[in-house]
Amino acid sequence: MANNIFQDSLKTLTKLAEEANINQMALEYMKKPERLITVNLPVRMDNGEIKIFTGYRAMYNTILGPAKGGTRFDLGVNADEVNALALWMTIKTALVGLPYGGGKGGVLVDASTLSRFELERLSRAYIRAIADEIGPHTDIIAPDMATNSIIMGWMVDEYENIKRVKAPATLTGKPVELGGSLFRTEATGFGTAIVIKLLTDKFKLNPKDLTVAIQGYGNVGSYLSKYLFEMGYKVVAISDVKGGIYSEKGLNTTEITNVLWNSKEKRPSIYDENILSVCKDVKKITNEELLELDVDILVPAAKDEVITNKNVSRVKANYIIEAANGPIDNEANKILEDRGVVILPDVLSNAGGVTASYFEWVQNLQSYYWSEEKVQEELTLSLTKAFDNIWDLSTKENKSLRSAAYAIALRKIEQAINIKYNM
Ligand code: NAD
Repeated sequence: MANNIFQDSLKTLTKLAEEANINQMALEYMKKPERLITVNLPVRMDNGEIKIFTGYRAMYNTILGPAKGGTRFDLGVNADEVNALALWMTIKTALVGLPYGGGKGGVLVDASTLSRFELERLSRAYIRAIADEIGPHTDIIAPDMATNSIIMGWMVDEYENIKRVKAPATLTGKPVELGGSLFRTEATGFGTAIVIKLLTDKFKLNPKDLTVAIQGYGNVGSYLSKYLFEMGYKVVAISDVKGGIYSEKGLNTTEITNVLWNSKEKRPSIYDENILSVCKDVKKITNEELLELDVDILVPAAKDEVITNKNVSRVKANYIIEAANGPIDNEANKILEDRGVVILPDVLSNAGGVTASYFEWVQNLQSYYWSEEKVQEELTLSLTKAFDNIWDLSTKENKSLRSAAYAIALRKIEQAINIKYNM
């Protein structure tokens, strides 16, 4: 990950705010996080030693509501990355019309090296360190890279023990038994599949004629691949951190996803024999090769800045769907746009996650729980509305889809700033 990811995100913000005629004061307001906390977490390891882990939590902007955003456990976590991700959350929540601002957090750790008990102690230590700063009406946490519903369960338990109150709405993405929403786990990938279908419909393309490559086979990538397969798209390649597989005939990603999530082991790699046993005629490829495949639709769904000036000239897909946050850097984005590649921006492509988190928060505050069908239905409605707004504005003002998405979000934030500060 490049160290300047936050600077890169500010360049995009400034350019797109100018294109949207956002006033200077509102832009300045958006350029800095309201708050960024750094915490150092002593955690007892299984061998008895104490190890110190560094974590962050950014409350970037709360003009439209409490901060909302995930927590990632990853070796790429740093203050710049957390700020950039929290800025994108601010744009995303405003774009979809959720009553939230943007936040994000993370801990610098390779979670795959920790035992289950070490992971629990780290998760609880993180919440102890930031407990006074978070809450259902201030800053609401969710899962992100390498965190999941189990971790959200430990975190909400720790928070409620500290505060001596039941407050499930402080965290979303929880296990259903602890107040989680049905369909939250599947929601991000499902949402990405919905917006891909809306996009390809606009270009009058038939899913059966479209090949797709997906980088990242975690929460987002795996469910996305399953829904795309079920909609008739031909998913020809998938990958995880260890590498990928390719099949010219297409992969049965429903079967692969079922094997992945039904495994009793820690999440298996794509190269696990149980996964390879349900794949026919596949060839192993690297992550670099996956990004450069001659496919119609490329979906980076793993991490930020995977398409840069180093590889952009070899990227062949005509449609790129940013299921991960920030997978294309500024320079590569410009080159791709000049080449006429259609890019569906992250602030829409993965907005299904925060939208379902919003539904979970609403259910927690009302203590009234929805059926899976209702969550799917409301999610589809919200994302379709957001997609249509972006599409219509991009056509009307002759903007890229990213520029239109930012214009919609920034105009809402600008109006709120103007009212609040009597501008
Ligand atoms: P995850 O940890 O469940 O999965 C990440 C996947 O990416 C794994 O398959 C991992 O092996 C792979 N990966 C990690 N590093 C890689 C590398 N260097 N090269 C190739 N693959 C690599 O994470 P996730 O929750 O699926 O999140 C993926 C992306 O989606 C992130 O950018 C995250 O911010 C974004 N996102 C997630 C959610 C959500 O609800 N989980 C919501 C919105 C956005």
